[in-house]
This record gives sequence, structure tokens and C-alpha cells, in this order.
Amino acid sequence: MSCTRVNETRTQANHVVTAGTKEWADTNVNFIDGCENNCRYCYARKIKARFDQVKISDWSTMKLVESRLTKPIGHRRGRIMFPTVHDLVPRFLTETLYILGRMLAARNSVLVTTKPHLDVITEICTKFAGQKDQIQFRFTITSMDPVKLAYWEPGAPSFPTRMGSLEHAFNRGFKTSISIEPCLDEDPRVLVATLRPFVTESIWLGIMNYCGEHPFNSRKTIIKWLNWFQDDPLIRFKDAVGKKLARENDKIAAKEIESVVLEHSGYVQTTLPIYTMHAEKKKR
Ligand code: SF4
Repeated sequence: MSCTRVNETRTQANHVVTAGTKEWADTNVNFIDGCENNCRYCYARKIKARFDQVKISDWSTMKLVESRLTKPIGHRRGRIMFPTVHDLVPRFLTETLYILGRMLAARNSVLVTTKPHLDVITEICTKFAGQKDQIQFRFTITSMDPVKLAYWEPGAPSFPTRMGSLEHAFNRGFKTSISIEPCLDEDPRVLVATLRPFVTESIWLGIMNYCGEHPFNSRKTIIKWLNWFQDDPLIRFKDAVGKKLARENDKIAAKEIESVVLEHSGYVQTTLPIYTMHAEKKKR
């Protein structure tokens, strides 16, 4: 999964809008330190290293945190995101099934967020087939290009493995959604079209945050995304998309940008035509 900063803003329409993992869930559950995916853009690694909780060089060694396995999990208000600062890997399958089972037994709604391994997803679908109404999968699939995936997410499963996991969960009748965050392609239309038949809920598009390396996700690219997908009910934009545009073009009112993103997040009505008009004026 992609781990991003958490904050909260309030719109004109008085809707509470959240960012980072809080855009998707109210609380989270994790039980491992480190993550073998070792994504170059990993924000969790950066934060933990900043607070001396982990050495950058140790991040890819995953360590079970026993105390989190036994920590009580009661019924929580809102949805739980599981996990947010590591991934679900075959080596810790037993623990994954155990802790997910405890969350479900407490009647929680769980967003299982992962760069999926087929073995893990197959076991979850089998073991919790009777509780599928409490689970939504959110698979992070940032590109189909093996070269880009190997560079940015060196330890994560390949595109075919992630795609196979998506198809499996969909065919077993589970709720499925996708995070294309950070989007590694300038043009994600083929990726979206490939994933779409197996997605029951939503496809989230997001940009690379806090990583100066990435050449894409420019303002120009984001405007293309907004125009390609403005009428697509399946597509949602992470709020960082609007923030980036607002940061880079102070002539466009931040509230208008926010409305574009929020409309695609299911909150308020769009002002995209107004936004596009401003953008065109700026170009001229
Ligand atoms: S999958 Fe793991 S390494 Fe990649 S961003 Fe998430 S926590 Fe970091």
C-alpha cells in the first residue's frame, strides 16, 4: 500500500474531508515492523527513520510485533484499514489470518489494503467467505510496466500476480477496489481499462508524494487525468491531486480545485468546467 501523510480539512459545504490513509478508513491495524516491498517512495519508512524507529537499510526485513497480535480488538466506529505501514506477505500468512479473523469477529468493517500476493488473497477469500460483506479489498496496482514496478517497488509482487489476485477476489464475490497511488504512468488509461472489469467499488488515482525523484505527476499530467476521467463514476482522485494543483497555480482558487477532487470522491458537486476554464486561461 502507499502510506501518505494524514490530515484533515473542512470544505465550504461543511463536509469533513480527510487525506492519506484517513481518506479511506477511520482507524488502522498493523502487526509488523518493516516491509519487504521496500518501495522507493515509502513514506512510512521515511517517518520511522526520522524518529529513529528503524534504519533505512533494515526496512526490508519484516519483524513480527508479537504484542500487536494479542492486543484486544473490539468493535470500532467506522472502517479499519489493514495494514497501513507494511504489507501482507506469505511468510506471515498465519498471523494475517489470525488478526483479520479477530477484527471480523468483533463485527468490524475492514479495508484490506495490499500489493497482493495470490497465496495470501486466496487464503483470505477461502477462510472468510462467510464474512465477505465485512471486507473490501483495495489492491495497489501502480502500473503494468515491469521495469517501472521493479524500480519503484522492488520487493513487491509482479503485475500478473496482482492482477490474478484481483480476479480471484472478484470471482469469489468480494468487494474490490484499486489504488493507483502513486500512479507511475503519465497515461493510466490502459491500466484503468484492464482493471475495470474486476472492480466492484472504485479506482483511486493518486500522485507521488514526498519523493523528489518522479518525473511524472506534473500539473499538466494531472489536468489530463481530470479531463480523461471527469465523467467516469468509478474513478476517485486522492486529495493530494487537488492540493498539488492548488500549490502550483495560485491563480486557481483552491476551493474550486478541492471541489473537483471531492466530486470524484463522492462528496460534493463538481466545478470542473470552471476549473478547466481557469486552466485554459492560464495557458493562454
Ligand atoms: S508497500 Fe511497504 S514499502 Fe511500499 S509503501 Fe507500503 S509500507 Fe512502504
